[in-house]
Order: sequence, then structure tokens, then C-alpha cells
Amino acid sequence: MGLMRSLLLWSSRNETLRRTLPNFRFVRSAVTRFMPGEEIDDALQAAQNLREQGIPTIVTHLGENLTHEHEAHAVADHYLDVLDRIKRRGLDCHVSVKLTQLGFDLSDELCRSLTERIVRRAGELGNMVWIDMENSPYVDRTLELFKQLRKKYDNVGVCVQSYLIRTDADLNGLLPLAASVRLVKGAYAEPPGIVFPMKRKTDESFFLLSMKLLQAARTSGAKIGIGTHDIALVERIQSAVASEGMSGDLFEVQMLYGIKREEQVRLARVGVRVRVLISYGSFWFPWYIRRLAERPANVWFVLKNLVSK
Ligand SMILES: Cc1cc2nc3c(=O)[nH]c(=O)nc-3n(C[C@H](O)[C@H](O)[C@H](O)COP(=O)(O)OP(=O)(O)OC[C@H]3O[C@@H](n4cnc5c(N)ncnc54)[C@H](O)[C@@H]3O)c2cc1C
Repeated sequence: MGLMRSLLLWSSRNETLRRTLPNFRFVRSAVTRFMPGEEIDDALQAAQNLREQGIPTIVTHLGENLTHEHEAHAVADHYLDVLDRIKRRGLDCHVSVKLTQLGFDLSDELCRSLTERIVRRAGELGNMVWIDMENSPYVDRTLELFKQLRKKYDNVGVCVQSYLIRTDADLNGLLPLAASVRLVKGAYAEPPGIVFPMKRKTDESFFLLSMKLLQAARTSGAKIGIGTHDIALVERIQSAVASEGMSGDLFEVQMLYGIKREEQVRLARVGVRVRVLISYGSFWFPWYIRRLAERPANVWFVLKNLVSK
């Protein structure tokens, strides 16, 4: 892992930086590149704008590792309200949740029941809930919780990360459930030994896992999200899909708001299914630093903001 990436990922978990940096206006204004605003209405307005360009969305309320039960309940209530708002606006907009924002650090049972409330309500409204994958200590429990929900609901999907060596084996447990899966490369600092040591390997793993998912989706009808901004990789997957005689509609390319915007629009125009994940909320620091770590050149963007102030 590059030095800059390691340093940024370390910063994303540093309490002092989390408390101080968001107070600087130049940092706050740099964040707007990746986030339309802190309020749900900002996110839904952005979703509406994207819809006009033929792009459906996912919204997620930023936050992780909550330590009080009442906070986890408040997050669940918030998502129930968000689902109603999405319905009222008539948007094709899923929600994506982080389990540690729903009490995962407090109790599996609390987290399962809060997540289930959201999934059940989403189902009643014809909507879909994605479960994010957080860092490696949570992977087993996240997959377990997902499997429990999947037994009862088909409008729930889970994220898996191609940088983890274990993911291929994890898919063997998910595919028989006709599970909807979002595949991403992975955004956290992980100990050596459990992740591929070179990015090239993570990219290759992404391709192989995507093929495995798509072959299974062909018969299961599961929803597959190819969560990447790596256009060359998307094109490689598209050609493999075509040469295997599979339909391009088997998957949607999922990207983050503000990243590769022109590609999002271009892909949607040429008929690729694209969905954009929009984040909002005031607890954006660790999430934002992970976005910087994905492309350390982004740090120059922040510094440019500082100079221009
Ligand atoms: C919809 C969605 C959901 C996600 N959910 C999760 C999750 O639940 N758990 C998790 O661990 N990770 C999640 N991620 C993040 C993911 O793991 C990667 O860290 C992130 O997508 C960057 O990798 P990449 O696939 O775009 O490829 P890369 O090879 O890193 O990048 C490909 C191209 O995109 C550009 N790019 C990538 N990131 C940025 C950026 N931040 N700013 C500017 N340009 C950029 C690069 O410069 C490069 O040109 C999610 C990503 C997406 C798109």
C-alpha cells in the first residue's frame, strides 16, 4: 500500500483529526465535490437531478461505529422516513446502510432487528436496501446477518470486497441464496495476509468475482452491482458478458456521486445501467478521507481549495 494511502487511512480513524479538521472551511468546501450536502433533501434533490439524466440512485446517511442504542434507533427511524420521502418523490432510489451505524458494535440482535425494520418497510414500498461491507473484523458477522435477512426478504443485498482473499469462498456461501451482491474493491486499511498484496491482484480478483456473480445471476435473477469507477475494468466485464452470450442488463454499474461524472452520463447514454450512490450527513470525516485515499491526487484538490481561500 502506498505511503500516502496508508497515512490517509490512518487519519480516517484518528479521533483528534476527526474532531478538528471538519472545522476548517477549506476542508468542508472540498467535501462538496463528493457530497451534495449534509441534509437528506440535498441528497434527494441530487437524486432528482440525476434522474433527469436517466441515472437512478442509492442514498446513504453517513455515520459508523455508533456507541449508544438510542442513536442506532434514531438512524433506523431516519431511514424509515427516507424510504417514505423517496416514495413520495417517485424516485428509483435505493438505500444503503452501514451495520455499525445500526448498533452492530452493541449487539447483533439489536442490529438485526433495526436493519430488518428498514428492509421490511423498503419491501412494502417496493424498494431495495444494500448493506455496506465495513472493515475485516465485521465481515463474518455482516454476512451472517445478511443471510438471516435474505431468508425472509429478497429486497436486500450485501457488499463484498475484491481485495479480501476470502471473498471467493464467501461467494460460495452467498450464491445458493440467490443473493443480490454489490462487488467493490474495498476501501479500508487491512492487515497484510488477508488482502491481495498488489492492486493488480485486487483488480484481477474483481474481474473473476464479477464473472462468478454474473454466471449465477443468469439463473437466479439476483441483482448485481459492479461498484467501481475503473472504466477499463467495466469494459472488460462488458466484453466478457457479451462473449459468454449473457445480457448486459444482468448488472448495473454503481458509482459514487461526484466521481467520474462524465463517465456516469456517457455510460447511461449508451444504454449501460448505471446507479449513483449519494452520501449525506454531518459525520463525513472518515468516509471523506477514505475517498481521498482512493486517489491521493485528490489531496491536491483540497490544498488548492486552501490556497484559493
Ligand atoms: C457504489 C459504491 C459502493 C461502495 N461501497 C463500499 C463498501 O460498502 N465497502 C467498501 O469497503 N468500499 C465501498 N466502496 C468503495 C470501493 O471499495 C473503492 O474504494 C472505490 O470504489 C475506489 O475503487 P475503484 O473500484 O473505483 O477503482 P480504482 O482502481 O481505485 O480507481 C479507478 C479509477 O477511478 C478513479 N477514482 C477512484 N476513486 C476515486 C476518488 N475517490 N476520487 C477520484 N477518482 C477516483 C481513479 O483515479 C481511477 O481512475 C464503494 C464504492 C462504490 C462505487
